Amino acid sequence: MAKHILVKGIVQGVGFRPYIYGLATRYHLHGWVCNTSGGVEILVEGDSEELERFMQSLPFEKPLLATIDSLEVNEAPSPASTTFEIRESQDVYGGYQPLAGDIAICPECERELFNPNDRRYLYPFISCAHCGPRFTIIKNIPYDRPNTTMEEFPMCEYCRAEYVDPLDRRFHAQPIACPNCGPFVELRETHSQFPTTDPRVSSIEIRTSAILKARRLLREGYIVAVKGLGGFHLACDASNPYTVAELRDRKGRIDTPFAVMAANRTVIESVCEMNREEQRLLVGREKPIVLLVKKKQTPMQTYRVSELVAPNLDTLGMMLPYTPLHHLLLNQTDPVLAREPVPPILVMTSSNFSEEPIATENKDALKRLSPLADAFLLHNRAIHIRSDDSVVRVNKGSTVYLRRSRGYAPYPVKLPFAAKPTLAVGGELQNTFCLTRDCYAFLSHHIGDMSNAETHESFEQGIRQLSHIFRVQPEIIAHDLNPNYFTAQYGSRSEVLRIGVQHDHAHIVSCMVDNGLDERQLIGLSFDGMGYGTDGKTWGGEALVASFAGFERFAHLEYLPLPGGDAAIRLPWRVAAGYAHSLGIDIDDLPFLRKVDQHALRLLRQEIDRGLNSPSTSSMGHLFDAVASLIGVRNEVTYEAQAAMEMDVLSKPFVSVAQSYPYSVEETEDGRIIRVHEIIQSIVDDLHAGESIGQIGANFHKTIADMAIEVCRRARTSTGFNEVALSGGVWQNQILLDLVRVGLRQNEFTVYFHKQVPTNDGGLSLGQAVIANHLRAERSEPDGERRRSGSSG
Ligand SMILES: [Zn+2]
Ligand SMILES: [Zn+2]
Repeated sequence: MAKHILVKGIVQGVGFRPYIYGLATRYHLHGWVCNTSGGVEILVEGDSEELERFMQSLPFEKPLLATIDSLEVNEAPSPASTTFEIRESQDVYGGYQPLAGDIAICPECERELFNPNDRRYLYPFISCAHCGPRFTIIKNIPYDRPNTTMEEFPMCEYCRAEYVDPLDRRFHAQPIACPNCGPFVELRETHSQFPTTDPRVSSIEIRTSAILKARRLLREGYIVAVKGLGGFHLACDASNPYTVAELRDRKGRIDTPFAVMAANRTVIESVCEMNREEQRLLVGREKPIVLLVKKKQTPMQTYRVSELVAPNLDTLGMMLPYTPLHHLLLNQTDPVLAREPVPPILVMTSSNFSEEPIATENKDALKRLSPLADAFLLHNRAIHIRSDDSVVRVNKGSTVYLRRSRGYAPYPVKLPFAAKPTLAVGGELQNTFCLTRDCYAFLSHHIGDMSNAETHESFEQGIRQLSHIFRVQPEIIAHDLNPNYFTAQYGSRSEVLRIGVQHDHAHIVSCMVDNGLDERQLIGLSFDGMGYGTDGKTWGGEALVASFAGFERFAHLEYLPLPGGDAAIRLPWRVAAGYAHSLGIDIDDLPFLRKVDQHALRLLRQEIDRGLNSPSTSSMGHLFDAVASLIGVRNEVTYEAQAAMEMDVLSKPFVSVAQSYPYSVEETEDGRIIRVHEIIQSIVDDLHAGESIGQIGANFHKTIADMAIEVCRRARTSTGFNEVALSGGVWQNQILLDLVRVGLRQNEFTVYFHKQVPTNDGGLSLGQAVIANHLRAERSEPDGERRRSGSSG
């Protein structure tokens, strides 16, 4: 008898079949291996001892990028053949499987790329079974060339020979290509046509002419749009303040920090501090943007980054080249490329106007980006799924995901239960959506802020693409309670069961699942920007007692008026003036108000007095914005949380000498309310006494930390629960996160913070999916206890 093995997990596009082929050959087994839409199927027969050894080796010697979630072994009839073969892929009805993300160029391919004797010397699309595009080029499963955007490029005889040779590292590597048969790059200038020659038939000089020209333009201070793995970047010399200013100007004078790409590690080390964990992330196969602390620049240093790249921040978003094309753009040593020296640090920012999704198609890019770029470095390999760069940071040795996209999406998060097919549509900012099937939650790539039609389209397209690839037919749509959200309308005309989930509850449950916790009750601190509450007010300074299916609002920040509603997010001075006015605190001689339009201020106060246009909020994010403005950090922002982030930079040096301000927790009929009057009054007093911004900022952080710990202690006394989950965008604040984590542990709490999912709204959809599954289960139980204080609207 033979053994039939079904392997599930990330087993396609990672060199798994060649691996099985090698293993079966080693143990003299015959049979076959085959990709199906349900995983990898293997049939093996041979000597029973050798078969045993094959089974033992299988999970342990697997390729680096593979993960095995399950191995199902059954007895089967003997195969007809006496050899071992790789069979044609099959589509199995109902089958699906997780997929690998896009992988940065591997060291072997990088060596070949710069080897003048290699036939892929300086070829921008070199890849192998262990590296290159995956998620961004896949159109269908099983993962095979005809199901990717590489189908347009028939392999030449040399590439085919490698593709079918089991001993070659390009054996069954789907994106395989070479200068004879694969995609190529071209350079177009916005105002003139750069002559392009078909690079397939010509010399290395002509083949690299587009790249050489791009390098020259970058050196001369031009802005070049570069087509990458998951979309276009705008690239320019990061050391040139005029160029960076020009880029900001064209993009709309925003302060949003730009990411930068450095030629190599040495260059990064000269401009940023870097510890071992940060280094591991920078060189790892996902190659995310890593936030690193800037070094103080000296006039003598070789490499420089303009202050305008990340104004008023103490960190830089750094990454290393991750595609062969990036290497060709930034390489400092190759003799052919060195004819056009290039700056070793480039700004590499998503090529769009502030809030539109990243451009992916040549035609679309040429149209949309012409006002932004002087030239375009294009290529003709299509990007099927858009994917922005991921952004991470290291906090106390562990990775914190600020944006989980290229390289990480669509690796699934494992659920502690088998979910119904569910689509969770996420929130309005930093949107990701989530599809669940069995124990997998597939969290999408970064979609962005739902503020324009382009992002809406990108959101709907992403849902179509991923539900097709993972074969998910949702039985549940989970959405936010805010009826005005674009996402909350999604699928409203379909027959699918729709379940509303409260925003802060979704944050806490997302953190629980991210930590692998099964159903239980615990204390959750959701400190966030804005989430629609069950009372229709804007929440975000919440201490919940939460489980997968429900929550109680144990305590929250007091409600204060938000003058102008959500628009106040861009104008922290309005939040500061509004809070102070409604608390009866006199702030008239504070410096920040001198820069404010006095008429607008009078109007704002009138509106609050009359209760007009001033919705109530308990948001922690708004409290941070209010304080940042009050103490003079800034009155207006051009990106989310800018004021709080800049306050954080100023406060850091004073954290060790910070003193908490007084606050009070009031027991009322509606639960516990955290009063902030004394905090704001103390800050105003300190300002009058001439205390420094940094000291006041640090005191404020300390106050919120003490308050958070105090509320958890009360919750423990009242409920007996000893576990605390932290979630919501405010926890991106490192000072607060560190103070609260340490304080809670000193008080013998078990603390959970996010592990692989962002703490901001980018992680929201995961919580929505889990909660909706539990609410549905409760509702469909005939005698089941009605849900407690419900999440559903
Ligand atoms: Zn490779
Ligand atoms: Zn070829």
